[in-house]
Amino acid sequence: MHTVRSTSAAAVLALTIAATVRAQSAAPPRSADITNIRYDVRFDRATAEQRRVDVSMTFDVTGTEPVLLSLPAWTPGAYEISNFARWVIDFDAKSGTQPLVWDKLDYDTWRVQTRGAKTVTVRFAYSADSLDNAMTWARSDFLLFNGTNLFLYPEGRPLAFPAQVAIRTEPDWKIATGMPTRGAPSAHTYGAANYHDLVDMPFFVGRFDLDSAQISGKWVRFASYPEGSVSGAVRTNVWDWLKRAIPKEAAVFGETPWDTYTVMQIADSTYMGASGLEHQSSHVDVITPLAIQSEFMPSLYAHEIFHAWNVKRLRPAEMWPYVYDREQPTPWLWFSEGVTDYYADLAEVRGGIVDEKGFYALTGGKMNEVQVSPPVSLEDASVNTWIHPVDGSGYIYYQKGSLAGLLLDVMIRDASDNKHSLDDVMRELYTTTYKAGRGFTSDDFWNAVTRAASGKSFADFRAKYIEGREPMPYETVFALAGLRSSRTPTPRLGVTSQPDTGGVRVSDIDPSSAAAEAGVKVGDYLIAVGNIEVADQEFGVKFRSQYGNATEGTPLPIRVRRGTQMLTLSAKLKFAPGDYRLEPLPNASAKAVRIRNGLMKGETTK
Ligand SMILES: [Zn+2]
Repeated sequence: MHTVRSTSAAAVLALTIAATVRAQSAAPPRSADITNIRYDVRFDRATAEQRRVDVSMTFDVTGTEPVLLSLPAWTPGAYEISNFARWVIDFDAKSGTQPLVWDKLDYDTWRVQTRGAKTVTVRFAYSADSLDNAMTWARSDFLLFNGTNLFLYPEGRPLAFPAQVAIRTEPDWKIATGMPTRGAPSAHTYGAANYHDLVDMPFFVGRFDLDSAQISGKWVRFASYPEGSVSGAVRTNVWDWLKRAIPKEAAVFGETPWDTYTVMQIADSTYMGASGLEHQSSHVDVITPLAIQSEFMPSLYAHEIFHAWNVKRLRPAEMWPYVYDREQPTPWLWFSEGVTDYYADLAEVRGGIVDEKGFYALTGGKMNEVQVSPPVSLEDASVNTWIHPVDGSGYIYYQKGSLAGLLLDVMIRDASDNKHSLDDVMRELYTTTYKAGRGFTSDDFWNAVTRAASGKSFADFRAKYIEGREPMPYETVFALAGLRSSRTPTPRLGVTSQPDTGGVRVSDIDPSSAAAEAGVKVGDYLIAVGNIEVADQEFGVKFRSQYGNATEGTPLPIRVRRGTQMLTLSAKLKFAPGDYRLEPLPNASAKAVRIRNGLMKGETTK
């Protein structure tokens, strides 16, 4: 998952009590055994009009016990409880034409009394009005659905069952999904070998643009809604990004793990920001149309695609296998998300989407975000994500985890004389855990790091910067890669303001700032600072340029309007430390330069 937007009201609303009700009963409930499972999804002009999908599920039953059918509480990758059962409408169960008695066992489980029926069909409509890449959303000509939303599973039974999916839609509408077809493509029938795969392959149905290209020896498809939203030179650009990034990501692991990969993108003006959600052979981006050509897009694609290896396959043991009826907290999201984001930056610089300066800017930006976030350990931030903390530390495991990845990479290269890198750790864990059919543990990870680093212990690093809250040792580690960071102190007033009909109104004040010490209050209207009019659009730029070389303590008159009064308050100029900038270290050693070049190019010294 990767999102740039403030925590939405929907996300907060989605925070509900976990499915603890069930945990209190002694014997976990278990469905009668069901086999030969087929799902039917109907979406045509008529259902689109009502913004719903018609779903049916047909299966054979063994025995006479009730069938217990559950819908997931979350979509893996979107670490929040959503309880998809809440969007189900008109649930109904039949054997042939014979209605079957059913009730709810808990809020996401239906209990169907089969009374010896051999074949059962359940039907419901699903309300498709959530524009979220983990959910289901319809327009008059388009549907996004996630299997976690629609595909019921037998409670308490193994999830290894194969299943078929048939899509019923208009003859002139398209379908895009990572799920392989069964039979002729025109039959619109798909299949998955087990439930985990089944719900990891979302669908687009309707009108959208779709084209494909071979990258790293496999077909990649780009599906974008609405039609025409990504066209001409902009679409060519998207393909250029994908062709540059994917081979560099595949090189880390030495294989391209999918048969085909589908980039699924929705641009809609009701959506603020940009968000991606990863799957094993696809990902879904939901973005504002304003983002289509932004430099964030190659970052987003590179991030979500890298997840096809890191988290969808190489995954922390706490989330192996996925369970769908409750949260699965793990202290490793700093690795699954943050290190994924580090590799997105690396794929960009290694593939030539950005140059070295661009990579430094991406890294400096992450340092700035960590700087303004409350101190939080990477492990704590990882676990906390399920409750969406409001203190500003909520998603910092992305940026801080990315920086931890950079530091680990540099330290491994330094300790091994650049013969090994973090890439070796990724490859080793991928081979020894994912390929062996399990999740990785803390021992797996740290032992692999130590092996790559020629036996160096990382116990101290782990205690201070992964489990602990100490500020990261940027400078000592950066120097090993011929890098340094600097901050240029910047004059700072310390107020947050918003324009309204009365002028530029102070909405918040940093209590230790120049403005606070001078007596500026929330609700004041700023008129002028020094001789600079605040109404001027260029106020901030002019302020920093006029006072950038002044000394701290320089008198700084601030004129404000408070009610009907005009006041001139006497402030003294104060500086903030300024933004981080990463740059090459002059006179770096030959070894440090080799390490820096190795990072940028994805190479080690043979
Ligand atoms: Zn992610």
